[in-house]
Amino acid sequence: MSDATSTSLIKDIKSKYKSMYEKMHEIEQIKKEIRVLKKNLFNTCAHEWIRDWDEPSDSICKWKCKHCDLSRNPNCN
Ligand SMILES: [Zn+2]
Repeated sequence: MSDATSTSLIKDIKSKYKSMYEKMHEIEQIKKEIRVLKKNLFNTCAHEWIRDWDEPSDSICKWKCKHCDLSRNPNCN
């Protein structure tokens, strides 16, 4: 393989990594925004708690709101 080809491949790989890190950063930002929105929703919804049968009986997350689908335990959301 010629040096020129290798140099070009290395450049491409670096560029892909850069793009990947930018997207990961973007995903982290969106996750943060979702956390804030869920916190607001948790404080504004008139919750009605129902048993979440997908959660095991010893789960701390077994109660969820039938309106907003958030868990009664904020650590689960
Ligand atoms: Zn609710």
